[in-house]
Amino acid sequence: MHGWTGKILRINLTNKKAVVQEFDANFAQTWLGGRGFAVKLLWDELKPGIDAFSPENRLILAAGPLTGASLPSSGKLVVAAKSPLTGGYGDGNVGTWACVNMRRAGYDAIVFEGKAEIPTVVKVEDDKTEFLNGEDYWGRGVFETEKDLKKKYGNVTGVVSIGKAGENKVKFANMISQEGRGGGRPGIGAVMGSKNLKAVAIKGTQELPAADMPELKKLGLEGYKEILAKPNYKFWKRQGTVSTVEWGQENSCLPTHNFREGVFAHADAIGGFAMEKLKVSNRGCPQCNMTCGNVITDTDNESVEVDYENIALLGSNIGLGDLKKVAHLNRMCDDYGLDTISMGNVIGFAMEASEKKLIEDRIEWGDFEKARELIERVAENKDETGRLLSQGVKYASQKLGKDSKNWAMHVKGLEISGYDCHATPGMALAFGTSLSGAHHKDAWVISWEVKYGRGNYDQTKVDKIIELQRLRTIFEALTTCRLPWVEVGFELEWYPRYLKAATGLTMTLEDLYPTADRIYNLARAFWVREFGQEWSSNMDMVPNRWFTDPLTKGPLKGAKLDKSKYEAMLQMYYNKRGWDNRGLPTRSTLSKLGLSDAAQELGQQVQLAA
Ligand code: SF4
Repeated sequence: MHGWTGKILRINLTNKKAVVQEFDANFAQTWLGGRGFAVKLLWDELKPGIDAFSPENRLILAAGPLTGASLPSSGKLVVAAKSPLTGGYGDGNVGTWACVNMRRAGYDAIVFEGKAEIPTVVKVEDDKTEFLNGEDYWGRGVFETEKDLKKKYGNVTGVVSIGKAGENKVKFANMISQEGRGGGRPGIGAVMGSKNLKAVAIKGTQELPAADMPELKKLGLEGYKEILAKPNYKFWKRQGTVSTVEWGQENSCLPTHNFREGVFAHADAIGGFAMEKLKVSNRGCPQCNMTCGNVITDTDNESVEVDYENIALLGSNIGLGDLKKVAHLNRMCDDYGLDTISMGNVIGFAMEASEKKLIEDRIEWGDFEKARELIERVAENKDETGRLLSQGVKYASQKLGKDSKNWAMHVKGLEISGYDCHATPGMALAFGTSLSGAHHKDAWVISWEVKYGRGNYDQTKVDKIIELQRLRTIFEALTTCRLPWVEVGFELEWYPRYLKAATGLTMTLEDLYPTADRIYNLARAFWVREFGQEWSSNMDMVPNRWFTDPLTKGPLKGAKLDKSKYEAMLQMYYNKRGWDNRGLPTRSTLSKLGLSDAAQELGQQVQLAA
C-alpha cells in the first residue's frame, strides 16, 4: 500500500495509553481518508445515543493520501466527533501544520477516547506519545497556548488547541491553529474540552509515503505554477474570499439582520475593497500558494485574519458596518475558540430576541460593545443569557418559545453559513442536505445557481447539488483544500494525477463517486441511528423565515422561497440519492455501496425500504 501510512494512533486519555492500529489497503481504498475514515470509525465505535460529552465519544483527527504532500493546498486536517450541538455526525477541517506533522510522524489519523483526569496536552513526536500536564494552559486563549507550546517544542511543531469556549463546553466551540485557522463548527472543540484535552502538539520527521515521490513532487510543482498563472489569481491574493461581500450585496444574499434581508446598507464598509485599505499581510495554510487569510488590524491595533464568512456573520448579520470592529469580534472568537459563523448567528438571534422583548437584555442591531460582551458571556458561560446562547440558536429558541423557532437560523441545530436564501432554493437545499447541518462546505452551489436561474426548483439544480456534494466529499477525504478548484479554476483533472502518484491507483474522479456516496450515506445512517423514530424529512427543512418573511429591501424585494416547491425538490433529491420519502437510505442503496451491515443494524431501529 502506498500513499497511506497505514497507521492510526489510538490515544486513551483515561488510562494514558497510546497504541498503534494498522489498517489495510482495502480499508484505505474503501474510505480514502479524512472524512471517510472519520465517518467509518464513528459508525463502528460509538454506541447510538451516547452523550457527546461522555468519555465514549471519539475525537478524530484525520488526513488523507494527499495531505501534507508538496502539492497545492494540501495542509488540511479533518476533525470529527458526534456533535454536541446537533446530536448527529459532525466534522470540519482546519488548515494546520499539525496534519503535515501527523503524516510525517507516520499516522493518517489520531483517535482520542476517554477523558483525562486533569487538563492535558498530548505531544506526539514520531513514535513517541506523551501526556503532559496542561493545567497551566487551562483558561488561556489559543493564541498564547500555541505560541507557548511552539516555544517549548520548536516552531515546526503543529498545534491544534481549544480556548475557554471549548473548556466550558460551549456547543459551537471549535479547534484553532496558527492564530485564527479554525475548524469543527459542530462543537468539535467542546468535545475536546469534555475530554480535558487542551491541545495536541505534533512533530514528525519522516518522508511521506508515496508510490512515486519524484512524480508527485514534479506534478505538485506544475500545479503551483498553474495556479499562479490563473487569470484571477492576482485579485484572489488581494481579496481572497472577502470579495464575496460585494458579490453577496449585488446578488441579494448577504445575510443581514439575522437573515431578514440580503442587502446591507454598509456593505461597502466591510467589503473586499475596504479590507484592502486595512490589509497588512496574507496568511495561509501549509503547502498553499493561494494564502487566503487577509490580515488587517482591529480596533486595538491587533492583527486579525478575516474572511468572508466571519465578516458576513459578525458584520452585516448583526448590523455592524465597521470592519475594524468586525475584526475585533473575530479575534475574540478565535482566541476563545468559538466558531465565528455560529457566534454571528447567535448574536443576530439575540438582537432580534431583544427587539421582540423575548430576553431581558437590550441589545440593539450593530451594538459593538454589547456584541463584545455577549461573546465573553457565551464563551465564559457567564450568566443565564450566556448559558442559554452557548447551546446554539435551536436550543435557545426552544427555551424562548413564541415564534422564535421561525427565525432561529439553523438546519439540524447547526447555524447557517453566510448566504441568505430567500431567493436561492438550490443553496437552501444544499444547506438542508449538508452532511453536518447548515454548512456551505458540502455544496456551495449559490454562485452557479445565480447564473443558472434562481427561480427554478428543478432537476438540473438537484443534480448539480449532488455533484458538488460528491466532489466536495472527495476533497474532504483526500484531504486537501477545495478552494484552488472553486476560486481560481484549478482543474479537477489534477487530482486523479496526484492520487496516482501518491497511491499508485489509476482512478478518475467519477471512479471516486461511489466512495463519496458511501461516505455520505454512512454519515446519513449515523444521523438516523441517533434520531431513530424521530427522524423525518423535517430534519432537512430550512428555517421558516425564508418561506414566510419576504425580503423588504434591494432589487429582489418581495422574494421568498416556495415551501411546497422546496419540499418537492427535496423529494427529487431523495429519489436521486436512493433514499425513501423520509430521507432514509433504502436497503438496496446501502448494499450497493457495500454497506449491508449498516443496513442491517439500522433496520433494527427504523423500518428501511427495500
Ligand atoms: S486557499 Fe485558503 S483555506 Fe485553502 S489551503 Fe489556501 S489558505 Fe487555506
